[in-house]
Amino acid sequence: MDFELNEDHLAVQSLVRDFARKNIAPDIKEHDREQKFDPAIFHKMAELNILGLCLPEKYGGAGMDYISLGLACEELEYVDTSARVILSVHIGLNSLTLLSWGNAFQKEKYLVPQAKGEKIATFGLTEPNAGSDAVGIQTTAVKKGGKYILNGEKMWISLADYADNFLIFAWTDLDKKRNRDHSGISCFIVERTFPGVTTGTIHGKLGVRAGNTGWIAMQDVEVPEENLVGKEGEGFGIAMFCLEQGRYTVAGGSTGLIKACLDASVQYSITRKTFEHPIGDHQLVKEMIANMAAGYEFSRLLWLKAGWLRNMGRRATRETSMAKWIACWEAEKASADSVQVHGAYGFSDEYPVERYYRNSKGASIYEGTREIHKLMQADYALGIRDDKPRRCDLPAWPFSDKD
Ligand SMILES: Cc1cc2nc3c(=O)[nH]c(=O)nc-3n(C[C@H](O)[C@H](O)[C@H](O)COP(=O)(O)OP(=O)(O)OC[C@H]3O[C@@H](n4cnc5c(N)ncnc54)[C@H](O)[C@@H]3O)c2cc1C
Repeated sequence: MDFELNEDHLAVQSLVRDFARKNIAPDIKEHDREQKFDPAIFHKMAELNILGLCLPEKYGGAGMDYISLGLACEELEYVDTSARVILSVHIGLNSLTLLSWGNAFQKEKYLVPQAKGEKIATFGLTEPNAGSDAVGIQTTAVKKGGKYILNGEKMWISLADYADNFLIFAWTDLDKKRNRDHSGISCFIVERTFPGVTTGTIHGKLGVRAGNTGWIAMQDVEVPEENLVGKEGEGFGIAMFCLEQGRYTVAGGSTGLIKACLDASVQYSITRKTFEHPIGDHQLVKEMIANMAAGYEFSRLLWLKAGWLRNMGRRATRETSMAKWIACWEAEKASADSVQVHGAYGFSDEYPVERYYRNSKGASIYEGTREIHKLMQADYALGIRDDKPRRCDLPAWPFSDKD
């Protein structure tokens, strides 16, 4: 087993680290406080080809491997979760899905501009009354001539107010909707400019306040039939595929958040003194630091394994769920402890750890709540759940001309 990052990995890590620390870190406290999303970041990320990082060069991407994507997520979330979320939805949930499930027309029309960063993409599954229970969605897509007419509302959608392209999940078979048979759900590419699409931003969030989260309303939106992704009825499986890629990015990102908590806590423990000693000399503080170090290490190993499986072209649903669940849980614990290590100063925004603490919470809710991942892992262990081959899957890396 080779645990070393290769030269390309180190180059991506250093590029994204430098980018995040120069372009995001200086204003992040203000943006978080003001709940301000700065769309200028898209342009800057596009210039560095980060928005097409692990997409094949023939589609305008940088052609890097899946481990590079995880490393980029680590580095972005080390600075702020909102930056990592961009890669999660744009590459993880949307573009990798078009790469795997999209047809030649969809790749040319949508994937290429997304990979180049000319268009921004996101993912719309959740609705006001359906999150974990994705079969509970109410959005419908009724076929009329060469078009589908979409009606419904999506809620809690990252970049809802900024993305150009959305992957939207809707019922195409209303009988199956009544029977909660998920083989009646289909997936569509919807453009912001399609008449009948309106969006808005949700304010007052606990965390990811420098990011954009909102809603998408669709009223009689005419979607051309060539924007159906996969076949009619494959939408649920595609949604699960999207989430698997998104979870991978969340696992990498949460690992970066743990590292940020660890570094801030170590630094503070060296400088802050109580009872005539640096607080890092006290065993109970050491315990918190040790837990963060351990959490970082095993979260990293878990997502690296999931990335390695992707590079090999192997199914990683189980490993990705484990990596996402554990990294998010460890990030919650590490960020709570990093506030604790900072005492009263951790309770104010003089230090970044209170932002880490607020940001860590969302990741145990989106892309499968902690409870959903626990259920998945128990079901794998009990032999109740198994992964069957999918009609389309992520291409192995290095990409071939066919991908
Ligand atoms: C910041 C943020 C960004 C998001 N971005 C997106 C996005 O880009 N696109 C998108 O589609 N969605 C997005 N979401 C939505 C997210 O995916 C959902 O919030 C998530 O799936 C959980 O659904 P819910 O909030 O409706 O909670 P519910 O499903 O209502 O769950 C409520 C509680 O019940 C528990 N629970 C539910 N079912 C079970 C069960 N069977 N057994 C045990 N416990 C259970 C849950 O774990 C949770 O604790 C985002 C959410 C947030 C907070």
